[in-house]
Amino acid sequence: MLKIENIDAYYGFIHALKDFSINIEEGKIVTLLGANGAGKTSTLKVISGLLNPVKGSVTFNGENLLIYPPEKIVSMGIIQSPEGRQIFPQFTVEENLKAGAYTRKDKENIAKTLDKVYDYFPRLKERKKQYAGTLSGGEQQMLAIGRALMAKPKLLLLDEPSLGLAPLIVRDIFRIIEEINKEGTTILLVEQNAYQALSIADYGYILETGKVVSEGSAKELLGNSDIKKAYLGGN
Ligand code: ATP
Repeated sequence: MLKIENIDAYYGFIHALKDFSINIEEGKIVTLLGANGAGKTSTLKVISGLLNPVKGSVTFNGENLLIYPPEKIVSMGIIQSPEGRQIFPQFTVEENLKAGAYTRKDKENIAKTLDKVYDYFPRLKERKKQYAGTLSGGEQQMLAIGRALMAKPKLLLLDEPSLGLAPLIVRDIFRIIEEINKEGTTILLVEQNAYQALSIADYGYILETGKVVSEGSAKELLGNSDIKKAYLGGN
């Protein structure tokens, strides 16, 4: 569905992605793992059209994405739920969710999607009139994912959904990510929490300083002793 092949991307002189390739098959959850600065967010920026590689290709269902501006990429169904939430704090939960649907042409179906989002996140339904800025960290993360879902993504890009959240809430959010995927949305999951991410993903890539250093099915990566040592806190 989405293919990145042999790209190089820079911020000025900083070489953020080096001969970098990944492949996301339709219907799967693919995870990008790696330490701070490994290039995970830069990969999402390339897909969203915010960072232009100097070489290589990026295609979505065979179509070259590199010629399109970010708004066109959103309208093709590639939607990011950003790191750090970035919800509108002075708007209510429901206003935030409705804002996520602004690019949709099928306005008549928006209410249905809203119900669906409330099914995934009953906590958002209970708080639909509450100002988003007063939500807990976990609830804000749910809202960020819910808002992305309102755009009816074909490919959902999740940037560190577990960041700063308590383990029980992380478990909840990952269960919901799995559910969203089972109902047909392809997911690219960027995470530092390797164990949680691999436990729901189909396939994973491990990044170090802008390069893919390892890849494989989630099962293979979970069972690999080097990876266990470096990323899963095991031995
Ligand atoms: P984190 O988990 O800390 O966000 P990451 O894996 O997402 O890490 P990136 O944000 O993709 O890493 O950063 C990759 C490299 O590019 C890092 O060395 C970073 O310092 C650099 N970088 C990122 N954004 C910029 C920028 N706007 N200007 C200059 N350098 C940048």
